[in-house]
Amino acid sequence: MLPLLRFAPSPTGRLHLGNARTALVNWLFARHHGGRLILRLDDTDRERSTAAFAAGIEDDLRWLGLDWDAHYRQSERGAVYAAAFARLQAGGAVYPAYETADELQAKRAAQRAKGLPPVYDRAALQLGPAERSALEAKGRQPHWRFRLSGASVGWSDLVQGDIVVPGGSLSDPILRKADGGWTYTLASVVDDVDLAVSHIIRGDDHRTNTAVQVELFRALGAEQPAFAHLPLLTGPGGAPLSKRSGDGSVHDYREQGIEPHAIRLVLASIGTDRQAAPETSLEDLVETFDLARFGRTSAVLDPDALTRISAAVFQSLPLEVVKQQSGLADLTVAEWRVLQQNARTPGELRAWHRLLREPLAPVIEDRALLETAADLLPEPLPDAETAAAWLDAVKQATGAKGRALMHPIRLALTARDDGPKLADLLPLLGRERALRRLRGETA
Ligand code: GLU
Repeated sequence: MLPLLRFAPSPTGRLHLGNARTALVNWLFARHHGGRLILRLDDTDRERSTAAFAAGIEDDLRWLGLDWDAHYRQSERGAVYAAAFARLQAGGAVYPAYETADELQAKRAAQRAKGLPPVYDRAALQLGPAERSALEAKGRQPHWRFRLSGASVGWSDLVQGDIVVPGGSLSDPILRKADGGWTYTLASVVDDVDLAVSHIIRGDDHRTNTAVQVELFRALGAEQPAFAHLPLLTGPGGAPLSKRSGDGSVHDYREQGIEPHAIRLVLASIGTDRQAAPETSLEDLVETFDLARFGRTSAVLDPDALTRISAAVFQSLPLEVVKQQSGLADLTVAEWRVLQQNARTPGELRAWHRLLREPLAPVIEDRALLETAADLLPEPLPDAETAAAWLDAVKQATGAKGRALMHPIRLALTARDDGPKLADLLPLLGRERALRRLRGETA
């Protein structure tokens, strides 16, 4: 049977790199094995989920080049959850509980104060029918918990190896809220059963959820899927990801001009034996994908490496793609060849391009040298060789060399300290514009 995977983001925020990595690994797994990928929006949290976040996540996934074969929203599948819940109820697998959120919080705080794990004490199981009626008469609606077996739960994880979660560390999960809404735990397992998901690949922060969910799969009479828990992304040195270490949303990286392929390369390589190499294509990533290459322990994101790889990916794009990405429809092949070494992002390319095509106020450092340079400027100025010969002539005439020669000319022509070789830039700038800038005119 071909594998069926799902990526299941909650639309309660933007897609972060950690989620993007989960999405990518699921996508690569599905594509490598010729399987299918479901995008499932886990929007059971009605207060925090928004249509705008959902649209943003989908847009970021498309930008990353990740597509899906089917799409579901948990908010539209209430009937499926109700039917599954009725079966659990009929089988005595769930029980009503009446504690308020504040009461539950107080219980957990008291347990922690005693050094105990904050596990639900099952007080609701002690309530008799009369007590329940009394609570309901006071207007308390029950929420419903799934009764765990209490035994340890184990599975053979495709990334972490054999895992055992002690039964005593797990709380009976709430499946239905007091307002009648379904929780993620119920919706997720019922969906995974109903849609016949074969592999669940997600972050290691879901390990405890998996233990609970394994019991729920059993209670629903379903076979459990294979599980793989990826170690969570950290910043350099194992520090939690922070804004500074590059925990921007995918959208942030996109705005900064980071290449989607660079994100794919880095996220497919982190925590594996693979080196992110700019020349690796997406097809290569699919072909060589193997979950066994993912290690159990660390997954470190180096934001500088991401920036470096992104620059290398951008600089090797063909002209047609660059035109599209940068919005520079009239970028010429000659311009791209020269500017490519100095532009790491579409934004930087646009800045260089503006400098060639739009008026600029030159910075004048050594007026005498620039006068001589202007007087010697050849007519015509067709290529880099002519420009190099001219620089040589200015050197002979002024006695200036090295930085003393190049820096004033560069500042006059570009108003910048750095950039492509002057001999390469000059023909792109054109004689007229170069001459006026050397003379200190805005041109
Ligand atoms: N909505 C959950 C999350 O974003 C999905 C977890 C899962 O894959 O089941 O963490």
